[in-house]
Formats: sequence, C-alpha cells, structure tokens
Amino acid sequence: MIASVAWVEEYDRGSPVRAGEIIAIGSELLLGGRLDTNSLFLTEQLASVGVEVRFKSVVGDVEADIAAAIRTAARRAKVMVLTGGLGPTRDDCTRQAVARVTGRPLRRQPEAMESMRQRLAEWGRTPTGPQLRQALIPSGAEVLDNPVGSAPGFCLSWKGCLVVALPGVPAEAERTFAGSVAPKLSSGSAGQARLQRRVLHTFGLPESDVERRLTGVVRAGSDVRLGLLASPLGVTVSLTAWEGRLNTARTQGVSDLARLARTVRVRLGRFVYAEGTDTMEEVVGRHLAARRVTLAVAESCTGGLIGHRLTQVAGSSGYLDRVAVCYSDRAKVDLLGIPEALIRRHGAVSAEVAAAMAHGIRSRSQAGVGLSVTGIAGPTGGTAQKPVGLVYVGLNAPAFRNAEAKADDGSLTREFRFHGDRQAIKLRASQAALEMLRQWLVTTGSRGR
Ligand code: AMP
Ligand code: MG
Repeated sequence: MIASVAWVEEYDRGSPVRAGEIIAIGSELLLGGRLDTNSLFLTEQLASVGVEVRFKSVVGDVEADIAAAIRTAARRAKVMVLTGGLGPTRDDCTRQAVARVTGRPLRRQPEAMESMRQRLAEWGRTPTGPQLRQALIPSGAEVLDNPVGSAPGFCLSWKGCLVVALPGVPAEAERTFAGSVAPKLSSGSAGQARLQRRVLHTFGLPESDVERRLTGVVRAGSDVRLGLLASPLGVTVSLTAWEGRLNTARTQGVSDLARLARTVRVRLGRFVYAEGTDTMEEVVGRHLAARRVTLAVAESCTGGLIGHRLTQVAGSSGYLDRVAVCYSDRAKVDLLGIPEALIRRHGAVSAEVAAAMAHGIRSRSQAGVGLSVTGIAGPTGGTAQKPVGLVYVGLNAPAFRNAEAKADDGSLTREFRFHGDRQAIKLRASQAALEMLRQWLVTTGSRGR
C-alpha cells in the first residue's frame, strides 16, 4: 500500500490530471447476480472533467468493509465516488460507514428531507419510516439532489479527497452525477486536463488485421493510447490522450489526435463505417435519407433485429417502408412470393433464396432497395454442408456497378460464415446486412429510386 501511495504522489506531481477512485457498494454485486455497470459510465464522466480513475473496487453491504475501502481510497485519490447502499433497506449502510470513517455523525438534513418529500409527492406518496432514513446525511456534507429517485446523494471533503456518495440505481447515479457532481468537478478543473478520445468503428476485418494495418501509427512512448475492442458489431479503434499532459516533440499528444484519426481512417479505408457515437443504423439512415431511397427488409434468422435497429433511429419513417419477418418456408412463400420449388431445390438458407427474398420484398413494396437475410443462428440446425453461422445477405436494387454474384432477378448476394453463440450470430448477420447496404449506398446508391 505504501509503495502504491508513493507511486501515486510521484505520478500526480505536476500532472494536471486528478486521481480518481470508484467504490461500487452492494452485496448483490459480489454474488454474481448483478454486474457493477455504474463504474463504466462514471469512469467516462470523470475522465471528461479531468479525473482519471485509477482504481475501482466492489464491496458488499458490510460497514467495516466499506470503511476500509474508503480509508484506502482516501490515501491515493483526490476524488472518490461511492455508488450504492443509500437505499431505505436495513442492508444499505454506506451513509453509516462514511459517517464513522470521517467522524461526521449522521444528521437529518432538512434539505434532503424536503427534496425526498417533493419527489415522493410527485409520485403521490408520503415518506415511510425507512425512507426517512435516507435523509440522514453526515454532518457538514452537501446534499446532492437526485432528480429521479427518493434517495439523495451527498459529498464532503475529507483528508484532501472529495468523497461523493451516489445512489446505486444506475439511472439515479447517472442523473445525480450529471446534475450535481460534474459541474462541481469541472468548475474546479480550470487548467486541468481532460481525456480526449477519438473512436472509429469498423466491420469486416478481424482484430488481427486491424492491428496489422495500424502498425506504427502510434509511436512507442507516445502519450496517445491506441485501443482495439472486438464485438459482434465489429472492431472499434480508440485513440485516447490526456489533454495537457506532457507533449514534447518526442511524444504524441492530444493535438495529434485528429491527425492520427485521419491516418487510421486511411489505413482502414472502406472498413470504417462510423466515428464517435454514431451507429451503423444511423449512418445507413442518413445515406438513405440523403439519397431519397426507400428500404424494405425481409428477415429470416435475424427475426426482426434489423428492423428493430433501423427503427431505433428517430426519423426512420422517412426511408423505411416495411420489415417482414419471414421465419418459416411458408412465410417466405406467402409474404414474398418465393416459389416453393426454389426453396425445395436450394434450401431456405441459400444464396438463391436470399436473392429471391430481396427481390420479393422490393417488388411487393415498390421500395427503392430490398434487403434480405437468411441463415443458421444455431446452436442446432447445422449440417456439414450448411454449418451453424452460415448466413446469406441479399440486396436488390435498380443498379449495380459491380455485376459479380448478381442473381437472375437482379439481386446481389454474399455468403458469410460467422462464429459465436446464437445472439452473436444474429448481431453479426444484422451488421453484415446493414454494412452491405451501406457499401451499396456509398458507391451506387445515388441511382436508387
Ligand atoms: P442500492 O442503492 O444499493 O439500494 O441499489 C439499488 C439498485 O441499484 C439495486 O437493484 C442494485 O442492484 C443496483 N445497483 C447498485 N449498485 C450498482 C452498480 N454499481 N451497478 C449497477 N447496478 C447497481
Ligand atoms: Mg444495495
């Protein structure tokens, strides 16, 4: 511990970044029933106001354990954020632990009382006995308004460390932090560093290929960190740097981030489908709207996932005509007019049927472009010839620059072999379909209807 404290002090000397620590409190977080997700957004939020989270811990609802975690954190952090254990039930003991460790006895705070009464009144309720305990706050602490729940948070300064206690319910922790804590931390951060990040999303390249293509982009010893994160939606590349950290000629700093992001984009070319917080469905939606192309989708193995993703985007009614979930062979015949003989001859999971599905949904809807997916999501249903993960995507549109793999009915199809469990295969298939549509929109889509 002593070595760690010394290291932290050394690290902090002259650094514009404040050391942060998160303590997630709740016995359920240690029993495997629930994952500590609060520390994910808290880490990001803290970084954006110049606090670098260096330690996270998860502690049960045991007063002595919480007290020990607080003591340790106070030795090495300037900002400590606790979440959980502020609720009305007997097991919630965060406020008692903070009171005991800091020597600030719990007092009923009129301000906390009032905000709790107000919140409950909005829901047509009055505080119950246990709820009244939520207004007990360590003396001298500042009450943090919880705009979406009855348990207020609080913060106090102890041993040179700002101790923040937030409710455990994720939405309440998030709103309390954003409303009361972030402004406090940013106002004290003049001259402080902030974490800067550039994120690029790719699909279609394995992680190892992405890494190979990016070799040498970030030099050894640079202040910029390059991170790769693989998921069924593709590989995400992040470039992160603390603005204000050392930025000599030898190192690469935050001013280089934009330039580095451009280099990454060039190296990864057409595989980059979005940047920042943009999603594939938003990007595809923007292309469809800009080109005034309408879309109709026929889904088999993805079971409506593509439709769900597209309709998550506000304004999707402007370009999305319909989505048909044609799961059974009969549904493919009834809803899309696919000849039964075609399914019998090639099987429902085939390039021929994917092509016919895309053509069928487009001709029935008169949409500008038809998109289809058929495949085997598993874990059962695979054969030696058609294994689990085999997926065909079909695209039917008026004009293709590239005539390869074009079916008789004018559809373009592609075969994929995905790995993973059922959920991963469905996600990958939906992403592959949207990516195929995006590529078409980028290259030839302007000639659509
Ligand atoms: P509490 O404030 O401890 O009463 O927690 C209220 C609810 O929020 C419970 O359902 C907890 O499981 C949940 N919760 C508490 N801490 C976390 C956390 N760190 N991440 C996600 N959920 C949490
Ligand atoms: Mg709890």
